[in-house]
Amino acid sequence: PETKLPKVGTTIFTVMSQLAAEHRAVNLGQGFPDFEVPARLVEALDRAMRAGLNQYAPAHGLPVLRAAIAAKTERCYGHRPDADAEITVTSGASEAIFDAIHAVVRQGDEVIVLDPCYDCYEPAIDLAGGIAVHVPLGRDGGPTGFEPDWSRISAAITPRTRMLMINTPHNPSGAMLGADDIAQLTALLRDTGIVLLSDEVYEHIVFDGARHESVLRHRELRERAFVISSFGKTYHCTGWKVGYCIAPPALTAEFRKVHQYNTFCTFTPAQAAFAEMIEAEPAHYEQLGAFYQAKRDRFREQLLTTRLKPLPVPGGYFQLVDYSAVSDLDDAAFCRWLTEHKGVAAIPLSPFYQAPPAGQRLARLCFAKNEATLDEAIARLQTL
Ligand code: PMP
Ligand code: GLN
Repeated sequence: PETKLPKVGTTIFTVMSQLAAEHRAVNLGQGFPDFEVPARLVEALDRAMRAGLNQYAPAHGLPVLRAAIAAKTERCYGHRPDADAEITVTSGASEAIFDAIHAVVRQGDEVIVLDPCYDCYEPAIDLAGGIAVHVPLGRDGGPTGFEPDWSRISAAITPRTRMLMINTPHNPSGAMLGADDIAQLTALLRDTGIVLLSDEVYEHIVFDGARHESVLRHRELRERAFVISSFGKTYHCTGWKVGYCIAPPALTAEFRKVHQYNTFCTFTPAQAAFAEMIEAEPAHYEQLGAFYQAKRDRFREQLLTTRLKPLPVPGGYFQLVDYSAVSDLDDAAFCRWLTEHKGVAAIPLSPFYQAPPAGQRLARLCFAKNEATLDEAIARLQTL
């Protein structure tokens, strides 16, 4: 009999990180920082463990952390979610995405995803018995080539559409939704029963003075949405796997039914540490955009000394490069070749698509790295 996930193999992130290790390549593939987490966060974690916070947390998250998330959300987006009824702490954004999909998607329901999209979306939809309906990103005149075309998305809606998934800032492209996108999205969903899942894990990594259009800023949208974020991105600790979901009470109630039997609760001492960090050092997330913008600008300038062509990056910590001047290999083959022969690991875009555009020659490089790491990568890329 067919397996439950016939299309799924090993994720591209695992594949490329293994290949990078084998070939001692500079790993700009899988997205993770190679610098330290804030000292206060490590100290707070240590203190929490020594203070005995080592047993199960309340399933929905430590009350102090949910209160801190509510206050931070109000500071950032002018809307304060109810910490008891609307916020659930999860083991990373990945768990939250899985729980939200399983909370509302039934057998045969359609879920619209916008390609290229993060690779954990479709397997979760499949396991729930849903059908992923892929709509390509890209509209005329969009700065990155990965902005949504709302008329195409509208045309994909059917009576079976249960959910629409968006991601801003976007992995892998860095594209961001603007105010006009929000207006079109709002009009599209009005008078439908479609639930919105907004993946906002890169919410604080936005550049050039742009405003992150969180769904939480917009009443009509947030009343039908799961909004998901991750402390892994904001606090340079992707291995801690703590995230959260904000949704109105009725959606949260369904979400928590899945969450409580999936993981029940999330690593307790880290929750105390994040609560302290959010309250004591709001400057950390307020300045994260500037921190990463300096890395982006320096890396882009260096890339201009290579034959790779950098695309615009409005947000997030990934740089797409067009390698068509260097090679006519498809993206999977090129990234493998680059890792094995040039010692720089990158991520191809094709695994993020149902049907990758023919002839697309793009690779993703992560710039969440120390200057020395990026300098070494650039020195190797200059030999292309
Ligand atoms: N969504 C996107 C767009 C991501 O890039 C990531 C992390 N790579 C996740 C979700 C998952 O986040 P977490 O590591 O907190 O599970
Ligand atoms: N989110 C990370 C990325 O896009 C990878 C996370 C993972 O390895 N699952 O690179």
